[in-house]
Amino acid sequence: MRRYFVGGNWKCNNTIAQTQSLINTVINKLVFDVNKVEVAVAPIFLHVPWVQANIQKNVQVALQNSSLTKVGAYTGEISVEQVKDLAIPWVILGHSERRQYYGETNEIVGKKTRIALDYQLSVMACVGEKLAEREAGQTTQVIQAQLDAIKKELTTALWSKVVVAYEPVWAIGTGRTATPEQAQEVHAFIRGWLKSQIGTQAEQATRIIYGGSVTEKNAADLIKQPDLDGFLVGGAALKPGFADIVAAANDAR
Ligand code: PEP
Repeated sequence: MRRYFVGGNWKCNNTIAQTQSLINTVINKLVFDVNKVEVAVAPIFLHVPWVQANIQKNVQVALQNSSLTKVGAYTGEISVEQVKDLAIPWVILGHSERRQYYGETNEIVGKKTRIALDYQLSVMACVGEKLAEREAGQTTQVIQAQLDAIKKELTTALWSKVVVAYEPVWAIGTGRTATPEQAQEVHAFIRGWLKSQIGTQAEQATRIIYGGSVTEKNAADLIKQPDLDGFLVGGAALKPGFADIVAAANDAR
């Protein structure tokens, strides 16, 4: 049985006071069974040390990005050695906002994923199609290309540290959530890809989480889908409703 996974992606939001309030009033009050659900939240880099020192022990900390390059003369970057040095267990890679605004190609995402895994970090690897691609019937083709670029870089064993986040770009921050059926269709495709391209172990063990306008109102319906193993949550992760999303996963089975 796969353990559910709920990630909170806080993006480039919050002053330090707002992050402190979110931790104190929502995150540190989350109650869930760690045998059923794994929870991680991703603040901005600057807030990570405070969050690490003050977060409840059952919630892990994630970064929203890590570098393609190692330590050295790379102004403005944060390398995986430095992430590991601070004992941060998770990193989100390939988020559509990184792809869209910062030029991250499938190849860059694949390479970043390998570098992070080489340093024993766990990775939420994001994939997803744009609206025009969905409308052109290219959804699985786009996702396959994104997954293939990650596969090119990884050994089979490394997949045990990867959570695949299916995030249709048209659903991110738009209030337009994929229906449970739409999400399941793509999750089943990803699971089939894991089976044929990586192996039965990866097919059975890899968590495939859904992201795209998940809220406390739709989480319980989405989580009923057989290939949906949790959520990556953006906007709703900044609000008290995040507790209900975690609860939906906790109560799902
Ligand atoms: C995200 O940024 O990963 C995301 C899913 O955002 P939202 O929940 O706001 O759509």
